[in-house]
Amino acid sequence: MSKIETKCIQAGWQPKQGEPRQVPIYQSTTFKYDTSDAMGKLFDLEASGYFYTRLQNPTNDAVANKICALEGGVAAMLTSSGQAANFFAIFNICEAGDHFIASSSIYGGTFNLFGTTMKKMGIECSFFDAKMSDDEIKALIKPNTKAVFGETITNPTCDVFDIERFAKIAHEAGVPLIIDNTFATPVNCRPIEWGADIVTHSTTKYMDGHASGVGGCIVDSGNFDWEAHKEKFPMLTTPDESYHGLVYTEKFGKGAYITKATSQLMRDFGAIQSPQNAFYLNLGLESLHVRMPRHCENALKIAKFLKSSDKVAWIKYPELEGDESYELAKKYLPNGSCGVMCFGIKGGRAESIKFMDSLKLVSIVTHVADARTCLLHPASHTHRQMTDEQLLEAGIAPDLIRLSVGLENADDLIEDIRQALDKI
Ligand SMILES: *Cc1c(COP(=O)(O)O)cnc(C)c1O
Repeated sequence: MSKIETKCIQAGWQPKQGEPRQVPIYQSTTFKYDTSDAMGKLFDLEASGYFYTRLQNPTNDAVANKICALEGGVAAMLTSSGQAANFFAIFNICEAGDHFIASSSIYGGTFNLFGTTMKKMGIECSFFDAKMSDDEIKALIKPNTKAVFGETITNPTCDVFDIERFAKIAHEAGVPLIIDNTFATPVNCRPIEWGADIVTHSTTKYMDGHASGVGGCIVDSGNFDWEAHKEKFPMLTTPDESYHGLVYTEKFGKGAYITKATSQLMRDFGAIQSPQNAFYLNLGLESLHVRMPRHCENALKIAKFLKSSDKVAWIKYPELEGDESYELAKKYLPNGSCGVMCFGIKGGRAESIKFMDSLKLVSIVTHVADARTCLLHPASHTHRQMTDEQLLEAGIAPDLIRLSVGLENADDLIEDIRQALDKI
């Protein structure tokens, strides 16, 4: 099973004779054992098996294994949301007093988590601009730095991250590169092939694809050698007192990172995806390889249309020739980027609002990356309390409109956008 299309359909669940063809929903909180000893061994991580859905569930594992196969990793876990995935990905290897660096061009929720909430836990994040030189970025790395973080395609600014370059910077510093691959999906980019060590997802977006369930996933490449940097990662390489002194790297080898995140963080924080949602996610994954090319094809047509309109001040879409990220997109996303773009309408907030309110097919929703085309204007919606000056400080142009192109007919969408532009 080597090709991505086949993995989207078949990976993760291979039923034996007489078993259900589709992944069953194991709608059970708990699992039965015949002897006290058999169950005890599970709690000591002596034997593997299911005992409580907060830690592991067969439906979730089948779906996590499919995403793991798609990304080319060795182990994966589902989480309740993309936010939980990014939190666990960092918190699994950062403790109070530790530090990590992240691109400042990332999803607003992640920016807030890293810059504000994790700071309250004693974990400090330094943000960098990917346009800085290698030396400037390396100057941010300190003895207590534990990870480097970026998004393959940034939400909402649509920049492409130079994964190979940042993998080199991270590895020279003896820390892993963590990549949020939500927008590209493994159909269009597999960060592990470019040197990323850990990959995260908000499965809420293209993977689910239908705006039906919030979820997340963490995949480990198994490539980062925690033992070689033992002093930086004692949480993986020294005894865990909450498991009778077990050492994750000794006991689980390449599975150490995900085993710790499951048996310690998930046990203690409980941010699980429900098996029912994992089932819906799997339905989405079964068509991911069919949907992504269509999202990209539609988006490129619309991006070209917007670029040619005299009502549009600017547009960012990595596949447009001349775009800041065009060269990086050619390297990392040769088959297409995603359906999301951002642009500004000439004028300002009032014209942007007039344009949005005139749309009929394209709807205003707080979401991206599903089958229906939608848009959002941060200055009027998610960030509406901010002044133009504050928005610019946060890296968001006051006129920025984020458009997520769905799977409708592109000409219908262009017609709708054209008539709305004509109203301003
Ligand atoms: C939406 C999103 C998240 C957060 O995911 P949720 O599932 O909404 O918690 C994280 N990263 C990126 C790139 C996203 O687009």
